[in-house]
Amino acid sequence: MADKSRRQFLAALPAAAAVFSPRADLGAQAGAVRIDGRKLRERIEKLSVFGRPAGGVFADGVSRTAYSDADIAGRRFVMDEIRAAGFQPRIDPAGNIFARRPGGSGPPILFGSHIDSVPGGGNFDGDLGSLGALAVLEAFDAAGVAAQHPLEMVVWAHEEGFAFGRGTACSRIVAGLVDRSDMDVVWNGITRADAIRKIGGDPDRILEARRPKGTYHCYLELHIEQGGTLERANTAIGVVEGIVAIDRYEALITGFANHAGTTPIADRQDAMLAAAHLTIAVRDAVTRVPGRQVGTVGQIEITPNSPNVIPGRAQLSIELRDLSSRTLAAMMDDIRARAGEIAASTRTAIEFTQVVSQGAATATTDVQSAIERASESLGLNHSRLPSGAGHDAQNMALIGPMGMIFVPSVGGISHSPKELTHWGDCANGADVLLRTVLEVDRL
Ligand SMILES: [Zn+2]
Repeated sequence: MADKSRRQFLAALPAAAAVFSPRADLGAQAGAVRIDGRKLRERIEKLSVFGRPAGGVFADGVSRTAYSDADIAGRRFVMDEIRAAGFQPRIDPAGNIFARRPGGSGPPILFGSHIDSVPGGGNFDGDLGSLGALAVLEAFDAAGVAAQHPLEMVVWAHEEGFAFGRGTACSRIVAGLVDRSDMDVVWNGITRADAIRKIGGDPDRILEARRPKGTYHCYLELHIEQGGTLERANTAIGVVEGIVAIDRYEALITGFANHAGTTPIADRQDAMLAAAHLTIAVRDAVTRVPGRQVGTVGQIEITPNSPNVIPGRAQLSIELRDLSSRTLAAMMDDIRARAGEIAASTRTAIEFTQVVSQGAATATTDVQSAIERASESLGLNHSRLPSGAGHDAQNMALIGPMGMIFVPSVGGISHSPKELTHWGDCANGADVLLRTVLEVDRL
């Protein structure tokens, strides 16, 4: 590793945590370590029972939404597996499950994912990264590999944005994004405090779940891609560059509601027509320049929404995603300019209000390189790509170095019972996670 990049990695760590004690290289010893792919598959299959539709099979997916009975049973199963593997699970006040492999010194290397699902979800989103993390701890133990840092796995609670209308909820708490009053929010007839109590957390001590910067040497997450890029390109491993930034706007178009039979076309102020042009303008702004940016008009409300009335008002959502906030701003400038022309030609007024501005979470450059070296050591081809979906890793990036490993999703399908990652790819991903742990252990 070049001195410069090592310095950059250390710079990403707060000074107090940057205590590195170079020790004898364990490369030769670690070179042969592999995870047990068969056991990983068995565990993913066993976990799939919790939340499976009645009378269903593995391919019918799961509904294991956060705080549900299925979620609680699934968490119990995973904790039993952790114990059976010889580790001691611990639930933090936010309900996250941690298990640490003793040994080493300084801040631990943390890795894991989540096991809650969306309603009608699949068996790989989150499950692979969680059980893959356990497979890595076991592989280290089985091979008797010493690491410089303690190794710790985590199963994040409440990752999917379903319960309480929010996602990555419990890693947010660990990253410090929590307020005591958040525990009073009610969803589905239950307070967030009671929901967290249900899964073994302690809402009265919720602020103690926060972890300061430098708590972890590095955070790693193995996850399915949830898009079709890797499968299409026949690429085994995706090295995540970061989790994209999201800008969301509300566009309000004001026209004039009038009779659909008696108002000549030339006299109309049709808000719906303007909305249609604006939707195309979003698409044009996104595709005008090369890149992986995306933009979506996903919601529209028309008033009065009647077949015999020219729409007088339209309200639509515009969501833009990219790793670069500069690209997002440029796309929005483009959309605003086009909106001016559309307003003039349709004789309407168009106003924008920004409702979401979520920054990107960049994966640490040195961790990306570590994942690449890990993939190469296993003879697996790899490519860098952004994550268009949110992950717990984005919160962990707030408190230390972060990296994510993607494996192919068949057909790019996720959040569906049809979600599928081939078993060989699951094992590859967990092996790359293991090797990446070894790589960052040396940084
Ligand atoms: Zn997930």
